Amino acid sequence: MGDVKSTCCYCGVGCGVLIGTDGARISGVRGDPEHPSNFGRLCTKGAALHLTARPDARLLHPMLHGRRVSWNEALDFAAARFAAIARRDGPDSVAFYISGQLLTEDYYVFNKLAKGLLGTNNVDTNSRLCMSSAVAGYKATLGADAPPACYEDIDHARCVFIAGSNTAYAHPVLYRRLEDARARNSALRVIVVDPRRTETAAAADLHLAIQPGTDVALFNAMLHVMLDARWIDEDYIARCTEGFDALAAAARETPPADAARLCGVAVEDIVAAARMFATCGPTLSLYCQGLNQSSSGTAKNAALINLHLATGQIGKPGAGPFSLTGQPNAMGGREVGGMANLLSAHRDLANAEHRAEVARLWGVPSVPERPGRTAIELFDALLAGEVKAVWIACTNPAQSMPDQERVRRALRRAELVVLQEAYREVETADFAHVLLPATTWGEKDGTVTNSERRISRVRAAVPPPGEARHDWEIACETARRMGGEKLFAYARVEEIFNEHRESTRGRDLDITGLSYRLLEERGPQQWPYPEGAPAGRARLYEDGRFPRASGMARFAAVRYRAVAEPTDAEFPLALTTGRLRDQWHGMSRTGTVARLFGHAPAPVLAMHRDDMRARGIADGDVAAVSSRRGALNVRVAASDEMRRGLAFLPMHWGSRFMSGSGANALTHGAFDPESRQPELKHAAIQVTRAALECELVLLACDTPGLAPALQALLPRFAAAYLSRFGHEREHLEFRAWFSGKVDADSIGMLGRAAGSGDGESVEYEDERRGVSKRLVFRGGELAAACLCGETAAAGWLREAMARGGDAEFLRRYALAPIARLPSARPARGRVVCSCLDVAEVEIVEAVARGADFERLRATLKCGTTCGSCVPELRRLAAAQAVTTSGAPA
Ligand code: SF4
Repeated sequence: MGDVKSTCCYCGVGCGVLIGTDGARISGVRGDPEHPSNFGRLCTKGAALHLTARPDARLLHPMLHGRRVSWNEALDFAAARFAAIARRDGPDSVAFYISGQLLTEDYYVFNKLAKGLLGTNNVDTNSRLCMSSAVAGYKATLGADAPPACYEDIDHARCVFIAGSNTAYAHPVLYRRLEDARARNSALRVIVVDPRRTETAAAADLHLAIQPGTDVALFNAMLHVMLDARWIDEDYIARCTEGFDALAAAARETPPADAARLCGVAVEDIVAAARMFATCGPTLSLYCQGLNQSSSGTAKNAALINLHLATGQIGKPGAGPFSLTGQPNAMGGREVGGMANLLSAHRDLANAEHRAEVARLWGVPSVPERPGRTAIELFDALLAGEVKAVWIACTNPAQSMPDQERVRRALRRAELVVLQEAYREVETADFAHVLLPATTWGEKDGTVTNSERRISRVRAAVPPPGEARHDWEIACETARRMGGEKLFAYARVEEIFNEHRESTRGRDLDITGLSYRLLEERGPQQWPYPEGAPAGRARLYEDGRFPRASGMARFAAVRYRAVAEPTDAEFPLALTTGRLRDQWHGMSRTGTVARLFGHAPAPVLAMHRDDMRARGIADGDVAAVSSRRGALNVRVAASDEMRRGLAFLPMHWGSRFMSGSGANALTHGAFDPESRQPELKHAAIQVTRAALECELVLLACDTPGLAPALQALLPRFAAAYLSRFGHEREHLEFRAWFSGKVDADSIGMLGRAAGSGDGESVEYEDERRGVSKRLVFRGGELAAACLCGETAAAGWLREAMARGGDAEFLRRYALAPIARLPSARPARGRVVCSCLDVAEVEIVEAVARGADFERLRATLKCGTTCGSCVPELRRLAAAQAVTTSGAPA
């Protein structure tokens, strides 16, 4: 059948992909050279998309109370119970919690179902955790939720100001474009504001490693410097803005010296950042969750936009405040108004005229006036018994919401939880009364909008597996069962797009000039694209006019506000959370691919060495991490990225991949008063060494049913995780720590997992030392290993299993005490280049032999495929160069 053009389903860059397929199976994926977002490039995640097309990981049949049922039975039950609760306790007793990973058409029908048919605005989405502060920031200053810049602006910028974004990891293909721009233009300056020295920060010309949450103080101090130096654009301020005097007064309250103390950075760096921002030439800001996921997220967004307005750095090539969306279709969700406080086509729920317009468009008597519950409020209301039923689609709140203990109590309290989901092994499934199998990437049809307002088609390459159905179809089937036969009589997904398109007529995001046919013929397009227009608009506000009543942008006179939970004597460390390079959200999809674990194989808390030393914690020790809401045990690693007092835990590992419920056991639900976005980027924690003296490792081939069996064992251990390894061959690793003895039942289950039933089993037992080891060989190769008490050989065994062969060597050495291992050469450890399986050890050895960045690429080939590892390769090469030249490392 050849290639099917579609779009990557991960981040907001929105890369075009070509899916290789024979019509039944997905055989490969590559970047679409014609797609204007990526021009053929993909990152590690996108390039491994075809490997995620695994039916064994999927939810394939509807389930009701744990029993397989027909679609009719599942939907009859779910729709009838949902509607009955709404009738009994009022429409606001039910709610929908949906996702920025749904397609625009899916979003549209869910929104219409809640607001148009059931009469509740209780429809919110995981985009609340991701983008709502960006929405509020844009609306408060520019008058509309519309990112004014585009990717091409990176090519024109002379200064790129990156705030609260590890772009190299979270938006890798966009970062490639920035690397290209820097290579072309040596005058281009990059400033990064981030508490951590991430790969993005390490590669910048200037890194401001601020204390978490102090962004507004920094931005206001930069404005203070600009005012003193007269680096502002007085003409632009006079012609195109209002409210500058109030902002200037706020900025005057923040002298750079005060901000330097508060933010923990040098005054000179604040002055340098202000100078570069205001005087280098066009300045483009790229920002993401570091600004958004904050109890003052709207103020942070507005304070940064203020700098653009004050310097006239907006509405021209290479300039503008550009919010990067985390999810693939957070923008599409906003466009159809799929949130508790929005209506279709950027209309406001609070506006009676807007409500009447939407009611007319939908053909319903009215749209309810009362604002719906936003994500945190929705789960709080569920816990309080005010919301009784929740319909969840394409998101995993039992992993991703802050304060997990509270969220899980809320889900347990619900009368009805319906989960519409593509993957079987997600945490929220444990709480669902009804499970509805949904289609996913490679099977779906519709549209998404990326960070630069570009609408792309998503196309199906294969039929749905099992009985999975499209999200929009499930929503419409449900609506028809609730009396919405006429309102939801769509036969094809395109009809939904056309209805949404009509709702945008005359609005800021007018797409009445677009159609599936035009997208087919001309490819992805940016909005606005009104009827009759020759093309969409690359950048907004070029004429200095803004969509506010006055036509002027408005400065927001914001002031610094401290984080919701400052550190104190009891919880003295600041925890921040974020993305890894090769994982996506709760790992339901990326967690099925072994090579995507190579770069970060285990959940690890990163800390500063001094903080570890003060607590008697060594690199690799397991530590007890606690906050006021929960606790978990996890390994600790010393990291040069961290400043003192700061700790970092990846957001991805939840209770399907580790004991405990991951980073969100610790985070809290305090939210921004305007955007209602929670402060996922900061919580106060304590870390102490955990007294878990025993370690256990199981390595095994990935056979059907093994991963869920091991996932079920995770809670039995004080600390444990499940990971994958291998490149061509896929294997599972289960590692656990405990004190005392493991119960016989768990050992029996692990033994069965190790596969003693077939193959040749070699065992070693030393009761006195509490050591037991078992290796299972099949066909001359190591098929499984279970080591308890003595795990030093685990790294070698992993590599032997991944490589294959070498059984005799392993038989001799792996069961021996550590002193008799054959060499001191460390195991390969983490993989830096996932595409070509090149490990850090190999890179460091090559650099020690004199290889620079280009030589690394030429000899090891690392960094020559997707390029996601390029920032790390440059850093490893540069670090060695500094060390060998005798300068301080
Ligand atoms: Fe997908 Fe990577 Fe492109 Fe993001 S940068 S859309 S994850 S390929």
